[in-house]
Amino acid sequence: MRLTTSAAVAAILMSAGLGLAACNSGTEPADKPAADSRVESADVHPFMIGTLEAWALRDGGLEVPNDGSVMAMGEPKADVDALLTSAGVPTNPLSLSIQPMLVKTGNRVVLFDAGAGSAFGPAGGKLTASLATAGVSPDQITDILISHGHGDHVGGLVTADGTLAYPNAAIRMTAEEWAALQASGEMADLVATITPKVETFADGAEVLPGVTAVPIDGHTPGHTAYEIVSGDQSLLYIGDSAHHQVISVQRPDWTIQFDGDPATAEASRKALWERAADGDLRLYAVHFPWPGIGHVRRQGETFVWEPEGAAPHQAEH
Ligand SMILES: [Zn+2]
Repeated sequence: MRLTTSAAVAAILMSAGLGLAACNSGTEPADKPAADSRVESADVHPFMIGTLEAWALRDGGLEVPNDGSVMAMGEPKADVDALLTSAGVPTNPLSLSIQPMLVKTGNRVVLFDAGAGSAFGPAGGKLTASLATAGVSPDQITDILISHGHGDHVGGLVTADGTLAYPNAAIRMTAEEWAALQASGEMADLVATITPKVETFADGAEVLPGVTAVPIDGHTPGHTAYEIVSGDQSLLYIGDSAHHQVISVQRPDWTIQFDGDPATAEASRKALWERAADGDLRLYAVHFPWPGIGHVRRQGETFVWEPEGAAPHQAEH
């Protein structure tokens, strides 16, 4: 079942345990406990989800022109520039980070998306080096949870030589997304290489203990977010529900070229921000500025991104 309305998405988030009780506003856990001796670098950011060790791992970054062809499609350039300027962001080009996430849970070492590999040239492909800095080798990865089948998320599943980059990992995605990726004819060599490792699941499934798929519709046919729960803490990996920390958050209704079904994606995005703001959800945004961890807060009639560690946003009423 694919749900698109605000109420339906809210129901899914609530059923996934992401409601108002998710955590207490204003009592954020320390991002990195003082006792945490893990390596931190420009490309590796360790953090905790409850008792689980997690990392943001840089794969690269994309720049797209602010000319109405990719983001805020069809909107007057003056309006887009004014929004970006008011947020203190350069108006051109628009920068999109690429940072897959790693979580260790039980005896599993779980990668959330695989970066671009060689699919985007020098814009991506740093993930294995970032993993090495974090002290993790490719053969230690047991599971890769894919949000969707675009090149900046699945390209890194294979090496430049076309072999499996993570030979011991099950590659997991929704059945709908795998069917769409196979049918698209794109990345046919990659699809053939990963086929023996792919395991699909249904929307909303508990994919691994403590990790639940949360369908967020509109970007691709089977796009999914993932909720990770440890004790009374949680984090929602939002995949490509949003791409830019200003445009996608403050104007969720503005069309983004990457969204396959823009109207559905826009409704899903607005519903996600409503739930995230009202439920004080901790989010991980793969394309937001490094390391992509934070909260969405209400700001007047819309929303604003508050990166973790930044001064709390003063709500406007
Ligand atoms: Zn993406």
